[in-house]
Amino acid sequence: MPEHPLPRHWQPDRIEKRPRWPTPALAASLGRGLRGHCPSCGKGHIFNGYLRVVRKCRSCSAPLGVVRADDVPPYFTIVLVGHLVIPGMLITEQNLAPPIWLQMVVWVPLTLFLTLALLRPVKGATVGLMLHLGLMKDEESDPSAPHDFG
Ligand SMILES: [Zn+2]
Repeated sequence: MPEHPLPRHWQPDRIEKRPRWPTPALAASLGRGLRGHCPSCGKGHIFNGYLRVVRKCRSCSAPLGVVRADDVPPYFTIVLVGHLVIPGMLITEQNLAPPIWLQMVVWVPLTLFLTLALLRPVKGATVGLMLHLGLMKDEESDPSAPHDFG
């Protein structure tokens, strides 16, 4: 009878892999991300520019660049702005019925302003949420890839 080359009982890797950076509570991570600060320590900055995420936090070295928010911030921003602008348009039309040109002059710039104003804090909060949940790309796999999407 041949000897079995594999162990009969598989054992999971029980070594706890703790991050090398601070891991605050979810509310703290979200709040710091909303303000554009590092979700991990709250001292460094997430962004290097309008939406480009820094590779690592200057204060605590949290690997913010491997947290890939991708399309989530634009999606949440569209949902938020849509839920603010569309009811406002409908209520205005229902109660005041202003001319269409006046509606366009008010609502189109307001939509653009709200979108640009909310996209950055929403992306910061998304990075905070993803860092809290450990949703990040492997640090060793292509750290030089650009991280300026959405
Ligand atoms: Zn930090």
